[in-house]
Amino acid sequence: MRENKVVYGLIGYGGMGRWHTEILSNVPEAVIGGIYDIKEEKREEAKEKGFFVYETEEAMLADPDIDVVLIATPNDCHKPIAIRAMHAGKNVISEKPVTLSSADLLEMENAAKETGKLLTVHQNRRWDDDFLIIKKLVEEQKLGHVFRIESRVHGSRGIPGDWRKEKVHGGGMVLDWGVHLLDQILYMYGDRKIETVYASLTNVTNQEVDDGFTAILTFEGGTEVLVEVGTNNYISLPRWYVLGEDGTAVIRDWQLNGEIIRKTGMTEETVVPVKTAAGLTKTMAPRREDTIVKEDLPKVSGDIADFHRNVVAVIRDGAEPEIKLFQVMRVMKLMEAIFQSAETNQVIEFQDQV
Ligand code: NAD
Repeated sequence: MRENKVVYGLIGYGGMGRWHTEILSNVPEAVIGGIYDIKEEKREEAKEKGFFVYETEEAMLADPDIDVVLIATPNDCHKPIAIRAMHAGKNVISEKPVTLSSADLLEMENAAKETGKLLTVHQNRRWDDDFLIIKKLVEEQKLGHVFRIESRVHGSRGIPGDWRKEKVHGGGMVLDWGVHLLDQILYMYGDRKIETVYASLTNVTNQEVDDGFTAILTFEGGTEVLVEVGTNNYISLPRWYVLGEDGTAVIRDWQLNGEIIRKTGMTEETVVPVKTAAGLTKTMAPRREDTIVKEDLPKVSGDIADFHRNVVAVIRDGAEPEIKLFQVMRVMKLMEAIFQSAETNQVIEFQDQV
């Protein structure tokens, strides 16, 4: 601790490492004590930005000034660095995905228990505005009983970067984006058991790891959730599509374009059929104007700096971590069930422990 500020040591100064330095500049209770990256050019870049730079990981871990090590390296490095850091007496924040399997996570959890150190994970998309809007709609039952949620992210650039394309580094879209979307759903439905999981993976631009996936989760109480990541989608489907018994909500894009349509309670005695190319249908006929109402999405906005504010509160004041290990383990087991379902083409009975 330096003047009552929590001192961060950042390991990995790539895209996400740099982003953390920006976010942390909005958290006055935290200070970056220094940065280490395995690549010399990245260490030079950090020096040029004015940060103190360690020449080795050991030097950072041996520095008594560092309270918490923030790991922003490729996915396969999180576990060994986290375990070394905790044994060196440091609290740890790992980037997502925390590691590559539930067995690996168990080792990390054991190290946290043995050392009494904080281990938490940067599941920052719990603070995304689009997610917070959907969470509010569901919690306030704006649409009545929600029977289906579709959560998608679609791009058309394939898998970005280098290590994300390789299995050995924990590449692939389930571990990259899936971990965010699944964490959001499980956080929202923290107390509802998942009953079954069915999933398929895509390998359109990459054969080594999945470049997309679709997973269907069924929850007790009768809600089905579709989670999908696509990287070869030249037309994107909406980010969120939520179906309740009393209405439907859509969020189309990151700009939060979308709306809610709800029924008013006015009934239509006689429905005028709509003419389609080769027939008539009453089932699919548009509704009469006065039987539905269009509403704006509620305004909710998150502040991602709250993640680090919480870490500071945990370290300084013994607060509860926002991202808890049992939640991270639940998501990890769900990702394993997704891989298992895709490999066997079977519906998996998920042994959920909530
Ligand atoms: P990146 O390739 O841009 O950066 C990784 C950095 O780690 C590189 O500079 C590399 O030299 C360094 N590195 C590799 N091995 C190292 C080691 N053993 N010790 C020290 N440094 C090492 O990757 P990125 O996009 O910054 O992703 C890093 C992590 O952040 C990944 O786990 C990724 O999943 C995560 N990430 C999270 C989000 C989010 O929104 N939470 C977004 C992007 C990336």
